[in-house]
Amino acid sequence: MNEVASGVFQVSGTEVNMVLLRDGDALTLIDGGYPRDVEVAERAIRALGRRPEDVEALLLTHAHIDHMGAIAAFHEQYGTPVYTDAVEVAHARRDYIEQAAAPDFLPMIHRHGVLPWLLRIARAGATKKVTIPNARAVPDTGAIDVPGAPVPVATHGHTSGHTAYHLPQHGVVITGDALVTGHALSKVRGPQLLPPVFDHGTGDTLAALDALTGLGAGTIVPGHGSTLSMPIADAVAQVRERSGH
Ligand SMILES: [Zn+2]
Repeated sequence: MNEVASGVFQVSGTEVNMVLLRDGDALTLIDGGYPRDVEVAERAIRALGRRPEDVEALLLTHAHIDHMGAIAAFHEQYGTPVYTDAVEVAHARRDYIEQAAAPDFLPMIHRHGVLPWLLRIARAGATKKVTIPNARAVPDTGAIDVPGAPVPVATHGHTSGHTAYHLPQHGVVITGDALVTGHALSKVRGPQLLPPVFDHGTGDTLAALDALTGLGAGTIVPGHGSTLSMPIADAVAQVRERSGH
């Protein structure tokens, strides 16, 4: 667990990040890793002197299996409310699915690192069927009234209802999979989009970054890769350069 700003903790699951926000005694969990990362989330919460059932709110950047684990589990076990973008609510419910499946990776299976990665995520529960039947929509503007007061930033593209979360008081932005800094299937480190095999939304992943540039955040906690101290506008510019736009 890595405190990236006062009361903002990055927690590493299986090749994916979660974030805990501490506000006084109260906690919010943003994203929950793979299904078997629940115990990682529980350990982190207990290390902060709280119990999983004490977490007041669960936030999801998007309803991909590697972000839903502890969110779905705590919601089911303790009735903790889950919030996500209004569009993503139906995805979390699994009215439809916008996620890569094992066959999507077959064409690249010979590439270095792909097979071990597939085995690692399979062990972490990547093939489990997880749904969140009753997620609530975040407000259209302003902060969500939960510990840490995160402000949702619609970044539709990676999934049709993907949202980032901005913590203006800390200069932190939690970018989910809209912008990452590394991935097992990527050869480069630093600000980047995920490999296109992971994008299934109807939006444009590059255009979605427009919503992040003006935030003025200097600490980026991505869904995948390490936390990065860099102005978000510079990070977005690097992604655009890498993508040739
Ligand atoms: Zn994703």
